[in-house]
Amino acid sequence: MDKESAVQSLTDVMAKFTAYIGKRLPTDVKAKTAKLRAAETNPLAIAIYDSMAENQDAADKLDRPSCQDTGVIQYFIAAGAKFPLLGELEEILLNATLEATKKGPLRHNAVETFDEKNTGTNTGSKIPWLDWEIVPDADYALIDVYMAGGGCTLPGSAKVLMPGQGYEGVTEFVFDVITSRGVNACPPLLVGVGVSTSVETAARLSKRAILRPVDSQHPNENAALMEKLLEEGLNEIGIGPQGLTGNSSVMGVNIESSARHPSTIGVAVSTGCWAHRRGKIRINADLSYDILSHEGVVL
Ligand code: SF4
Repeated sequence: MDKESAVQSLTDVMAKFTAYIGKRLPTDVKAKTAKLRAAETNPLAIAIYDSMAENQDAADKLDRPSCQDTGVIQYFIAAGAKFPLLGELEEILLNATLEATKKGPLRHNAVETFDEKNTGTNTGSKIPWLDWEIVPDADYALIDVYMAGGGCTLPGSAKVLMPGQGYEGVTEFVFDVITSRGVNACPPLLVGVGVSTSVETAARLSKRAILRPVDSQHPNENAALMEKLLEEGLNEIGIGPQGLTGNSSVMGVNIESSARHPSTIGVAVSTGCWAHRRGKIRINADLSYDILSHEGVVL
């Protein structure tokens, strides 16, 4: 395949995949909301879980977005240094967003800051947002598509704590964020926590945390224990689906961390809603692909 055809072919795949993500939730999110529904005892909360499931079935049958807010499109890319279309990926993902906006359709959510004009294409300055990691020696690319809806993005927050505030300070920050603004994000939430040196490193890690599967664990056992304790503590608040009370507030809590400066604790929270639209695709060097986040997909 010549380069021009390869670029066109990958643009088509990414456009179809991006549009698909707006309509069908990832396998882990569907499984977790079904599990929370099965464990729920509050009749109102049960009715809400059932209405969420009906909504998803209807979106599937009618081939329509699973929530009206299809968000700002963000791509988190881990690209091999030897991936054949590395230099073309930015343009491919821009054109994929334009195409997915028409194909989906996706709601127009890109407003040029300071001009206060909606571009009407879901593209604009630095949108779609691209986050890059280069994987040495690899020839494939792993791409996470994320739809940053307004409500699920609203609770996002980051702060640098004094070192003496310790892990208790991290816990207090997470609880403050979720109890004050979590309800805006259509619970049950997937809570991502970043712990690092500064606000921007913690914020980036908190976003990466909500790209991880719902029931995954941090590899460090202390961090994994903190994930579990935060999840249990947040569930005890009983925010419930859509904030109308119930046994669960969250689908889970995922922590991502880095080594940090000894004098600071950067902490950030990002939240995903019950309609957590994210998808992971692996593009191989020959442009064949595997969809890792959703089962049984035909694009
Ligand atoms: S928080 Fe999620 S489910 Fe609620 S309106 Fe926004 S995108 Fe839709």
